[in-house]
Amino acid sequence: MTAVDTMAGRLAQIQQRIANACARAGRPPESVTLLPVSKTFGIEAIREAMALGLTRFGENKTQEIRQKAAALAGQGLQWVLIGHLQTNKAKDAARDAAEVQSLDRLELAEALHRRLANEGRSLDVLVQVKTSSEPSKYGMAPADVPAFLRRIAADFPTLRVQGLMTLAVNSPDPGDVRACFRALRELRDRLRQENIPGISLDRLSMGMSGDFELAIEEGSTEVRIGTAVFGARAYPDPQ
Ligand SMILES: *Cc1c(COP(=O)(O)O)cnc(C)c1O
Repeated sequence: MTAVDTMAGRLAQIQQRIANACARAGRPPESVTLLPVSKTFGIEAIREAMALGLTRFGENKTQEIRQKAAALAGQGLQWVLIGHLQTNKAKDAARDAAEVQSLDRLELAEALHRRLANEGRSLDVLVQVKTSSEPSKYGMAPADVPAFLRRIAADFPTLRVQGLMTLAVNSPDPGDVRACFRALRELRDRLRQENIPGISLDRLSMGMSGDFELAIEEGSTEVRIGTAVFGARAYPDPQ
């Protein structure tokens, strides 16, 4: 077996590529976190990942988090929602997710806050921003983010904003992909100057299996990696 035939080998290879990209960008390797994306993979794959030391997993459906969290209860795992969240599923996310990276509209913020306030909990969130013009991608328009953050700071104290998240355009042109990542970082830098109380913008979740090195060069602090760690998904998965 070659190294990449095992999850251990694939994980080691990804960690090396993250370290190399950090070195190229003049950044310390610990400045980028790996979020393994386990969506569509079963309990056995997650157990294998746990044996390699992974405890925090990205998923894009609340039902799937529910099932996996139940099957793996009591093991200290954290589930991070990275997929589009319907408002009527806010209750499930508030209950089962350690973090939501796909907060992209006011209606969802209101619904999450209502649930969290009922339960006396708070939740780490990232605001998902649309940095490409692809109609299939979710995310808030960059121009709407400043007012949204001010509204969260004023009215939704259960939502602890930690930063921004984006998906780059699907394009064979690395320049187009890089432009999306750069747009997110530049938006973050502008937002920081507003000094909105209670809003942290330290985290930029950007980069997936096919484009994470470009994202790291543009300032990503967290890369969301599915197939490059777990292998090919058996069925495609809408974002
Ligand atoms: C599926 C998914 C990923 C991981 O994609 P890979 O190409 O498998 O690495 C990252 N982010 C989001 C939002 C996803 O839905």
